[in-house]
Amino acid sequence: MNKKYVIGIDAGGTKVAYGLFDNNGKIVDRESQPTEADADGPAFSDTIIKNVTDILKRNSLTFEQLDGIGIGMPSFIQQETGYIFMTSSMPGIKDFAMRDYLQARLPTQIVLDNDANAAALAEYRHGAGRGTRHMVYVVIGTGHGSGIIIDGKVFSGSYGAAGECGHALATPDEGLMCGCKNKGCFMSHIAGRHLPERVRQGLKNGIKSILNPETADGKKLLEAYNSNDELAVIMIEDMARYLAWSVFNVYQTLNIDTFVFGGGLTALGDALFVPMRKEFDRLYHIPFPVHFKMAQLGENIGIIGAAEYIVKA
Ligand SMILES: [Zn+2]
Repeated sequence: MNKKYVIGIDAGGTKVAYGLFDNNGKIVDRESQPTEADADGPAFSDTIIKNVTDILKRNSLTFEQLDGIGIGMPSFIQQETGYIFMTSSMPGIKDFAMRDYLQARLPTQIVLDNDANAAALAEYRHGAGRGTRHMVYVVIGTGHGSGIIIDGKVFSGSYGAAGECGHALATPDEGLMCGCKNKGCFMSHIAGRHLPERVRQGLKNGIKSILNPETADGKKLLEAYNSNDELAVIMIEDMARYLAWSVFNVYQTLNIDTFVFGGGLTALGDALFVPMRKEFDRLYHIPFPVHFKMAQLGENIGIIGAAEYIVKA
């Protein structure tokens, strides 16, 4: 058990959340700010330095009372070095030694990892994954990806990018272009950031809908679905199928029996998960159970997971 405070930072494409945790793992202060989407690595890091300093000051704490700062970034990161190769939602943050930059300016331990890995660690230790040996956290929100926990540890792969099941190919060279520079990856069929384009294409193909490509998001999609909107029904059925295949492929590769689902599009609820489960079961012919669970930690999942990099289990 650590005796000091820990800060967890969850940097997303729309907001950056900060959490200050006491030595019992309780959140004692929390704040969230809009993401400076155009910032480059140093500018983004300078904002973090300023905010961390402010949080300590207003809680009458010094850096000596801090065990460290964990940061979850929506980036392709080499976890051991904290080097960021690219960030699809913040294109200015790339080829940047972010951990070293922060470490040189803040007198405390800094750990950086991918946000899906941080969320996976949070659910494994404190949420729906408690009691399991291995677990996969699957995010469906702005993006689609996963964090893999094997024997209690995040599995990062050779280059730090394990779990990027969203960029595995579902329909190679067919479908929407993704930030991974391929067409037809699972993300292009599932992720929220591709919803507007999928609405646009549906309308172009003559499918009737109340959805507007300018404003389409998960909430509007569910509203339309609930009023039997033809395009919304097709879109959610498609998402369910592709998500089932994505999870099925991860299961076949890793043979991990527990999948925990998080991210904004989980709000689609039964509309998505009932047909998704049905499709998975249709393809699954082995008598061992595969558990699908919903993430339990809510909006704090990212800051809890980031802080977990400092709190040793
Ligand atoms: Zn992709």
